[in-house]
Amino acid sequence: MKRALVTGANQGIGLAIAKGLVEKGHEVLIGSRDLAAGKKAARQIGATALELDVADPASITRAVTQAGLVDVLINNAGILGAGRLLDDPQDFAVSMAVMVHGPYLLMHHLTPHMVAQGYGRVVNVSSGWGAFSDGVAGPVAYGVAKAALNALTVAAARTLPNTVKVNAMCPGWVRTRMGGMGASRSPEEGADTAIWLATLPDAGPTGGFFRDRKPIDW
Ligand code: NDP
Repeated sequence: MKRALVTGANQGIGLAIAKGLVEKGHEVLIGSRDLAAGKKAARQIGATALELDVADPASITRAVTQAGLVDVLINNAGILGAGRLLDDPQDFAVSMAVMVHGPYLLMHHLTPHMVAQGYGRVVNVSSGWGAFSDGVAGPVAYGVAKAALNALTVAAARTLPNTVKVNAMCPGWVRTRMGGMGASRSPEEGADTAIWLATLPDAGPTGGFFRDRKPIDW
């Protein structure tokens, strides 16, 4: 049985990814900065809650110790701040902490076991707004952080052996707190490509960027 950690999984796309992985027979840890919310979500889907604030390196250290060995890491936690890019240093710092530094530290802690056992899957939940081909869109630090997460995906995939696959994906516009209720996709639809990447066969891709299970431009 594979053991998966999904960050920011107490609601939204992360919860749908966690549910999909439970249904595929994984043992799933729901990372949540609010443990009560994590426990409530975990109960709904047959997972286990793990207190994890990805913006806090000490919380990451505590969580990885508690989590033990992990075969599949989904860096899903994200925030979409307010205010304009160059006017809001705090939003920039938090965006980079949640969507770049946190994923980096989790990969730092968790990939050595994946390398040693010859199996690992890392999925970075990114966004089309992080694509240079789309102009690093979005009014705030979000697009810059997602572009950096994409760069981290490419560089980590190059650094790791092919047995540990690292891919980024865009869920599309999804009905969650972040996406709003007018969005075109359900959380399950948004989660599909991440679940696919999390369960890739040995011959599957690494170092790619995907939407709807198809490669998209960086
Ligand atoms: P939600 O706002 O519904 O959920 C975000 C999740 O991230 C929540 O569980 C939230 O926890 C968690 N989170 C935020 N900051 C932290 C932190 N410091 N530590 C741990 N968890 C944290 O958003 P979505 O489900 O829509 O977003 C999931 C991912 O999908 C994000 O990376 C987002 O950028 C990406 N995405 C979403 C799109 C959309 O249309 N919805 C489009 C493109 C990409 P809490 O409940 O405590 O706030």
